Amino acid sequence: SRPLAGKVALVTGGSRGIGAAIVERLVRDGAAVAFTYAGAKDRAEALVAALTAADARVLAIAADSGDVDAVRAAVDRTREVFGRLDILVNNAAIARTAPLVDVGDDDIERMLAVNVRGVVVATREALRHMGRGGRIINIGSINSEYVPFPGASLYALTKGALSGFTHGLARELGARGITINNVQPGPVDTDMNPAAGPNGPYLTGLVAVQRFGHAREIGGLVAYLAGDEGAYVTGADLRIDGGFAA
Ligand code: NDP
Repeated sequence: SRPLAGKVALVTGGSRGIGAAIVERLVRDGAAVAFTYAGAKDRAEALVAALTAADARVLAIAADSGDVDAVRAAVDRTREVFGRLDILVNNAAIARTAPLVDVGDDDIERMLAVNVRGVVVATREALRHMGRGGRIINIGSINSEYVPFPGASLYALTKGALSGFTHGLARELGARGITINNVQPGPVDTDMNPAAGPNGPYLTGLVAVQRFGHAREIGGLVAYLAGDEGAYVTGADLRIDGGFAA
C-alpha cells in the first residue's frame, strides 16, 4: 500500500544519514519528495538517481539551511515542481561540539542559523502552502532533555529550541488541521555520529538496548506522523532513543 500517495513532502538535509532514510521511506509510501542539501551534490544526485529508477518523483535542491533566501526558495520550488506541499521534515542540522569556553562567535551564529532559524523560516514558508492534513515534523534530539557528556551545550540549546517551537506552534495549527511534532532520536549511526567512531562504544553503553539506532527506524516514526494515523499526535516531543534517556 502507498499511504502517502498524492502527498508532497520537503525534507531538509536529505542527501545523507537520517534525512536520506526519511526521503526513501516517504517515497516508498507514495509521496513525491523534494529534499535539500548543502554541499554534497554527488550524494544528492546519487540518491535521486536510485529513487527515480524505482519510478519515484524526487527532486534534489541545493539550499543551505543557514541562508534564509535559499530556504524560502526551496519551499517555493517544491510547490512549483510538485504543485502542492503537505509534509515538511526539518532534518538539516550541524553539530559543532566543544566546551563552551572554546565555542567561537562563528560557531554560535552558524548553529543558530542552521539548526534554529532555518527551521523557523522553512516552517513559516511551508505554512503558506499547507492545508488540512498538513504535517510539520522536526528532527530534534534527545539531547534537548538529557546530555550525559560535556561539550554539547550549544547543540542541546538548538534542539531545545525546536521543542519549544513545536509546543507553541501546535496551538496555532490545530484548528487548521495541521500537526507539528518534535522527533528526538538518541544515537543513530550516521556520518554525524558514526557507531564505529571514537564515541561509539561509550554511547552504546548508555543506550538501554545497547546499540545505535538505524536511520530507517527514524524514517518509520516520521512516516507514521506524516500519515493519516498520526492526526491525533501534535505538539509532542517523541523519544526514539533505544532507552538512552530512560
Ligand atoms: P548527517 O551529518 O549525517 O547528515 C546531515 C544531512 O543534512 C546531510 O544530507 C547534509 O547535506 C545536510 N546538511 C548539513 N548541513 C546543512 C545545511 N546547512 N543546509 C542544508 N542541509 C544541510 O546528520 P544526521 O543524519 O546524523 O542527522 C540528521 C538530523 O538528526 C539532525 O537534525 C541531527 O541533529 C539529528 N540527530 C542525529 C543524531 C545522530 O546520532 N546521528 C541523534 C539525534 C538527532 P550535505 O551532504 O550537503 O552536507
